[in-house]
Amino acid sequence: MTLQLFDSYSRALRDFEPLEGNRVRIYACGPTVYDYAHIGNLRTYLFEDVLRRTLEFCGYEVYHVVNITDVGHLTSDADTGEDKIEKGSRRTGKSAWEIAEIYTEAFQADIRALNILEPHKWCRATDHIEEQIDYIKVIEAKGFTYGTSDGIYFDTSSLENYGHLARLDKEGLSAGERVDVGEKKNPTDFALWKFSPPDQKRQMEWESPWGTGFPGWHIECSAMAAKYLGPMFDIHCGGKDHIPVHHTNEIAQSEVCHGTNLANFWLHGYFLETDQEKMAKSSGEFLRLKTLIDRGIDPIAFRYLCLTANYRTDLKFSWESLDSASRALERLRNLYYSWDNGDGRDTAYIEEFTQKICNDLNTADALALVWELCRSNVPDEVKKATLRFCDRVLGLSLDDWKPPHQTEIPDGVRQLVDYRQKAREQKDWSTADRIRDDLLELGYAIEDTPEGPKVSRINSIISKSEG
Ligand code: AMP
Ligand code: ZN
Repeated sequence: MTLQLFDSYSRALRDFEPLEGNRVRIYACGPTVYDYAHIGNLRTYLFEDVLRRTLEFCGYEVYHVVNITDVGHLTSDADTGEDKIEKGSRRTGKSAWEIAEIYTEAFQADIRALNILEPHKWCRATDHIEEQIDYIKVIEAKGFTYGTSDGIYFDTSSLENYGHLARLDKEGLSAGERVDVGEKKNPTDFALWKFSPPDQKRQMEWESPWGTGFPGWHIECSAMAAKYLGPMFDIHCGGKDHIPVHHTNEIAQSEVCHGTNLANFWLHGYFLETDQEKMAKSSGEFLRLKTLIDRGIDPIAFRYLCLTANYRTDLKFSWESLDSASRALERLRNLYYSWDNGDGRDTAYIEEFTQKICNDLNTADALALVWELCRSNVPDEVKKATLRFCDRVLGLSLDDWKPPHQTEIPDGVRQLVDYRQKAREQKDWSTADRIRDDLLELGYAIEDTPEGPKVSRINSIISKSEG
């Protein structure tokens, strides 16, 4: 079956084929480690994980690189403002190096909790200063740079195709009266190397042919991607906010340096939105995975929630939708656990699942199909083997889950369950229903199975947040 992916560069759904043999090289823009990742950031890494798992499911051998931005990402995309890491250092009283270390580890713990496959290569911007300087030298030698009092800039007006990814209207931008370009020649020009401020000692700075300073944000990705994946590789991904500036500029650098647009496919994940307009890590107020865990939610329930929406649609976050995802996951886990193991898979369901996932990673339809399978009259052990196969893409780790130990159900709850069972046997449905509701209030769900009632703890976020 052909895998089709939406390529933002050509703005088309295209058949995917690796550039070389069976090997797929992916570069995903990683976190800026000045604070914890918010759950919006994590949605993007979940989409990239589904992408990687789908490629592996399709039989490709994937090599996946993720960078860690630990220098050079300024608070404004227009190359002004403070370095986010140095700002984080002031916020916390820790050194810039410590900040980067702490939040890199926290990020890696988050992705493990979400069952996101570890990239084959992590690469840190500060470990690749020499490569970035060499890259800038090539751009300079080809005549695409100029200097200002605060750094070395890329002259975007010299590059014919600049802004193709975002379909930028360069003329329109230049004519815009309110764009403050400072010393830049064009509003879209961007820093390749920034000088350390003359009146301030930065914690992170290096010597360079242009003066002491630090690399611009975009150059790290072009330089590290070229080092680990070559000048042209298969897939580059990130969140959709990277289209107009970061990825546009990565492409510009690569076009000058290597004559390529860096990747054969450009994939972008849409946003997870909260009630606030946008989830902004820099605002200091955001939801992180730990916020969810502290409320008793299993991180995999957040993974499940993200799977319910396709990556090319924005997903509005609410506690109610997370609660539904938690319950659905709980049901799925219990069902899966209750089935016996068997070998035979249902090939028709596998084929349909593959079709959905190969249709630009349609996880929403793939999940709906999983439920169709659960409700079908396919024998239980075949359902289990089929679902195990699909879980290679979904990553819900169904095989690792076990019901909470029976002793974790308090005696009082057990008594209510018995009382309800008696009511049912006497066909006293209203009492049985009332007890079921009482149990739900207490945070326990009952499933009536042929072997009798099964009780399990649920993560009732809503009742907790209200109580
Ligand atoms: P950052 O750590 O800010 O560099 O962002 C890490 C990744 O998260 C990037 O790929 C961003 O595009 C992505 N991202 C940022 N905000 C959101 C959001 N609200 N929803 C989904 N992805 C996001
Ligand atoms: Zn990047």
